[in-house]
Amino acid sequence: MSLLIRNGRVVDPAGGTDAVADVLIVDGRIQKVGRALKAPAGAEAIDATGKVVCPGFIDMHVHLREPGFEYKETIASGTRAAAAGGFTAVACMANTFPVNDNRAVTDYILARAKVEGVVRVYPIGAVTRNLEGRQLAEMAEQAEAGCVAFSDDGKCVMNAELYRRAMEYALPFGTPIISHAEDCHLAHGAPMNEGLVSTELGLSGQPGAAEDVMVARDIILAELTGAHLHIAHISTAGAVRLVREARARGVRVTAEVTPHHLVLTDEAVRSYDPNCKMAPPLRTKRDVEACLEGLIDGTIECVATDHAPHATSEKEGEFAEAASGVVGLETAVPLLLDRLVRPGVVDLPTLVARLSTGPARLLNLPGGSLAPGAAGDVTILDLERAFTVDPAAFHSRSRNTPFGGFTGTGAPWMTLVGGVKVTP
Ligand SMILES: [Zn+2]
Repeated sequence: MSLLIRNGRVVDPAGGTDAVADVLIVDGRIQKVGRALKAPAGAEAIDATGKVVCPGFIDMHVHLREPGFEYKETIASGTRAAAAGGFTAVACMANTFPVNDNRAVTDYILARAKVEGVVRVYPIGAVTRNLEGRQLAEMAEQAEAGCVAFSDDGKCVMNAELYRRAMEYALPFGTPIISHAEDCHLAHGAPMNEGLVSTELGLSGQPGAAEDVMVARDIILAELTGAHLHIAHISTAGAVRLVREARARGVRVTAEVTPHHLVLTDEAVRSYDPNCKMAPPLRTKRDVEACLEGLIDGTIECVATDHAPHATSEKEGEFAEAASGVVGLETAVPLLLDRLVRPGVVDLPTLVARLSTGPARLLNLPGGSLAPGAAGDVTILDLERAFTVDPAAFHSRSRNTPFGGFTGTGAPWMTLVGGVKVTP
């Protein structure tokens, strides 16, 4: 079982590589990267001339919806969407039904992923039982069963004492606590960002401070406990500044940002398209600039999609009443390549690092590098390929994207997991 990827531009940020080379994968692992490698007898060869060969992309924040909400997404459809979008692994959030707050659900997800998953699936366990914010979930047995992090994502754990205990509890497992930082009182369920646009549209808004306040609290708790705090979907200039300052003084805090928070602002809500509704909401231009700055200087170590599938019926009607969230697995890489890399806002090795090395390091996952012995997970990009986002063609079961009809250049070309091609 060997495979030789020939003549691509190999971008491996972990090894500081950006050069034309061959990549040899044997028995599911990277064996060698170098010029003019000889293919072992019987090896499959892929001609990657003119393409970019990267460590497999890892999306550390997706909602696969199974068990319980299979009408929105399943492990099968979600991982197919991931493979189509250039991702070789995903970490899935706990807000399923039943909630992934105990070993039985974690085991179920891993068993389904083994049978039907097209890419690697890493479950994230709940912090509190049934995501109710009252009692801690069965974190020890979940860590043992394979949860790579803990989060009540979708909800914020408002009880600081409980969150402190969750952080202390997670310490020996070495797993991060992932914070959906949203002070529910300050945010008061408002469907968009508070500012000029919300005022003009007559929609109620939630201030960026609803996020900043919680990020500040969580950083203080991480400092108190020594736990690894990870801020999900960071979206405000204030939160980026807080994370940067905390990291500078040695607090173990990391952060991710979504593609939609990097390429859209609250101006998009003027369309009243419910596909522009998500939590946290789209913010201002200043916030987007701060997120980009954080992404470039490493304050934000990864891009994650927060892929949140919803049925069409849940995304219809009034903006304020629609469900929050957008799908992202199949649009993230093309949008980031076209909107950020092509105009030179972010260089390609930095983007590749935020999509591979960063999440692998944060979650202690195999992959994130093309070093000998690493998992044979590879994402190959075609920077010249033109795309038009067509939600009807998604592999995901859901179509809720604000990017339908967007065009651009640059897209994933092939996805390999353990040395096997998984692109649909
Ligand atoms: Zn969230």
